[in-house]
Amino acid sequence: MELPNSARAVVIGGGVAGCSVAYHLARLGWSEVILVERHELTEGTTWHSAGFVGQLRSTVTQTKMIMYSAGLYPELAELTGMDPGWRGVGGLRLATTPERVEESLRLAGAGETYGLGLSVLSGAEAKEMLPLLDVRDVRAALWLPGDGWLDPALLARALAAGAEKLGVRIFTGTRVTGLDVVGGEVSGVRHARGAEEWSVQADTVVIAAGAASGRVGRLAGVDIPVVPIKHQYVVTEPFDVPSSMPTVRDPDNIVYFREEGGGILVGGYIRNPEIWDTGHPLEEPRTLFAADMPKFQESWESAARRVPALGRTGIVKVVHGPEAFTPDGEFLLGETAVRGLWTAAGFCVHGLAAAGGVGKIMAEWIVDGSPEYDVFGMDLRRFGGHARSSSWARAKALDSYSKYYDIVYPGEERTAARPLRRSPAWVRHAELGAEFGEKSGWERVNWFKSNAGPSPEAREAPGGRGALEDQEAWETRGDREARPAGWAGRVWSPAIRQECLATRDAAGLFDQTSFSKLEISGHQALMRLQRVCAGQLDRPPGSIVYTQLLNERGGIEADLTVTRLAEDRFRLVTGTAFGVHDAAWLRGHGLDVRDVTSAHACYCLWGPRALDILGTLSDDDLTFGYMRAREISVGNVPVLAQRVTFVGEFGWELYCPSEYGLTLWDALMEAGTPYGMRPAGYRAIDSMRLEKGYRVWGMDITPETTPVEAGLGFAVAKDKDFLGRSALEAAARRLACLVLDDPRQVCLGGEPVRLGGEPVRLGGEPASRVTSGGYGHRVERSIAYAYLPAGTAPGDRAEVGVTGTWVGATVVAEPLYDPASDRIRHLPA
Ligand SMILES: Cc1cc2nc3c(=O)[nH]c(=O)nc-3n(C[C@H](O)[C@H](O)[C@H](O)COP(=O)(O)OP(=O)(O)OC[C@H]3O[C@@H](n4cnc5c(N)ncnc54)[C@H](O)[C@@H]3O)c2cc1C
Repeated sequence: MELPNSARAVVIGGGVAGCSVAYHLARLGWSEVILVERHELTEGTTWHSAGFVGQLRSTVTQTKMIMYSAGLYPELAELTGMDPGWRGVGGLRLATTPERVEESLRLAGAGETYGLGLSVLSGAEAKEMLPLLDVRDVRAALWLPGDGWLDPALLARALAAGAEKLGVRIFTGTRVTGLDVVGGEVSGVRHARGAEEWSVQADTVVIAAGAASGRVGRLAGVDIPVVPIKHQYVVTEPFDVPSSMPTVRDPDNIVYFREEGGGILVGGYIRNPEIWDTGHPLEEPRTLFAADMPKFQESWESAARRVPALGRTGIVKVVHGPEAFTPDGEFLLGETAVRGLWTAAGFCVHGLAAAGGVGKIMAEWIVDGSPEYDVFGMDLRRFGGHARSSSWARAKALDSYSKYYDIVYPGEERTAARPLRRSPAWVRHAELGAEFGEKSGWERVNWFKSNAGPSPEAREAPGGRGALEDQEAWETRGDREARPAGWAGRVWSPAIRQECLATRDAAGLFDQTSFSKLEISGHQALMRLQRVCAGQLDRPPGSIVYTQLLNERGGIEADLTVTRLAEDRFRLVTGTAFGVHDAAWLRGHGLDVRDVTSAHACYCLWGPRALDILGTLSDDDLTFGYMRAREISVGNVPVLAQRVTFVGEFGWELYCPSEYGLTLWDALMEAGTPYGMRPAGYRAIDSMRLEKGYRVWGMDITPETTPVEAGLGFAVAKDKDFLGRSALEAAARRLACLVLDDPRQVCLGGEPVRLGGEPVRLGGEPASRVTSGGYGHRVERSIAYAYLPAGTAPGDRAEVGVTGTWVGATVVAEPLYDPASDRIRHLPA
């Protein structure tokens, strides 16, 4: 069969991902789709995969994708006449420590919110299901009846057969050697078939080349930070293991197993993984590495403790193969920096389980412009420019792999490849004992240890405990008094409360330099922005507008402020991690965007003494109104002051060119300290923004929620047309504020552990999940947000599942703090 001269879409890679993308593109009605594979189908990583399909993942979207896959795989046999060998045996996930039990309970609660059938069993019940298990140390087990396993190569072939049935043409033995890019858009793919060379014109190309995706991406000059890492499993000789054996995951021992040919297949993660260090991944078909039994020793011993019969059984097969890992252990999906060039890669030992969902998402994204699910956590554009660095990607990927099964506690920070991006004031933060967190490579202050103890005045008073060395003692006392129960109190400091109270009573100084800042200018800038923003931007220069960018379904693709710097110049400020994503969305809608993030430092001075403090440093009129921006001088530093807040107190975001950043920080600290101002961090911001009901994109609002549902109707212009407007109907659900009866029980919501948020019940029935939660120190309440049926009203009762315990909660009017916003709108008295 000859390659065509042109195609509507070219999918590169005949593994399970490429076959699924091609199948789903065809299912959405695309004709003239071709798939090219350099070897035979599946001869990259797919053929040797262990075949597990486990539905429970750390994010809602991944779990939904895998649930979709699990539903698709059994159907494929019927659709194509090819049976992917699905064994719906169910799965057990064991917990042997109190922490793992807590995680299991959280997972079970989260599972309830998206209809994933699962239950919590005792060790004895797990043993009843699988008598081979030694459960003496098992405290609980999750039972996932929808889990199972299948034959990986058969699955890929069934997807390929389905694709072919729908008109996709598949070319094996066809190697991609070049990608043509014209004016930033992909225009064609060059191939080699034996000695022959072929060019196919196409303006949609999907790189699904597994561990070779980084290399293929470089043909077009794009960075796909895939890191090939070696992964191993073994198969034992048969010993009458029943084929109905459920799959087992034992995360505390970082091993997993299932039945295979009457024996057991044992796979394991290890603490010292090895990169497949090659410039030419997957060049040979069916690449496997020599067995490395010393590296597998610990996994094998752990497995033999769990299944003692293994100690009497021989190993008949070792599979040691390459897999594509990523810097954060999440998939790499979406459009690259080259228009029309997409990727679906980096499946971190879940490609098989996820492939159905990956195909669905990718096809919807390519055909409709946005997928049904919120995919930001997997969006290729979540990294900064440093994703180009292979040393960065490798350090991160090795770290993610080695901690794959570890519990990540809320607020716990990974340490690999840090510090990377630093604010000009970072050195001062470090001097003050900042506890740093990392986002998109930025070092951001979570809290300052120096705030954990008494106020500076009390410390200096006669008999006061002066030095910073005393902090540990103060923290311990503070912990006892105020530390939230359970996981929410694990990574925590009394400093957070002090920072909130100082911001309420005097002022807080927050370093938000990591904000993403985008500029758009030109005579068509307003007209084009008006088309993509739901808010009304046609306001005088100096105005700031809080707005959302919507997709065709009315879902929120971005949430940002737009400052009109001049008639034809706008600056957009969005979250630290969202700049690349938001810029791509805007570019995709015809806007010319400049990312100026690195050009400006940003410090936020908020609190009732902010006017006094800034007044000592500036001769400018500082009384300009809320949602207005002015150029001012602060000390010797030129500053753009934006009168906005994310904590509900009077004040400004102060932007200066980066090189003035340290000087500005020092000036503000010196001026503010006598007024009781404290430097403060992101955990305080998060507490205060909850009290004010300010939404966070990716948690409270996502591409799956509309502004009407999210209670952001006030930010939607009534007097203009914009993308997504026609989809904004009356909402059947609304984002509601709940207050928990027990203030020490604190919800974590969808972040940072990202288990999908605590379940919420109304009238004893599953209703929703918490999008974000936390403790509000100014209102002294435990707050949670969740989407509830539109008829729900303040005073209604609900229950929130905090780690397996149902805590009573009441729906309340929001915001809880300063509902009339007097503290924001008016100058401090
Ligand atoms: C030991 C091991 C066990 C695993 N167990 C499981 C499991 O139990 N469950 C699970 O869900 N996942 C598991 N995985 C992971 C899973 O196998 C992978 O995530 C999945 O197979 C990846 O599929 P893919 O299509 O992305 O990549 P691949 O299957 O590698 O496909 C990529 C294809 O692209 C082709 N290609 C590359 N370069 C070019 C080019 N220039 N031109 C044309 N074609 C090209 C390659 O030849 C290859 O066929 C396991 C992985 C390993 C290593």
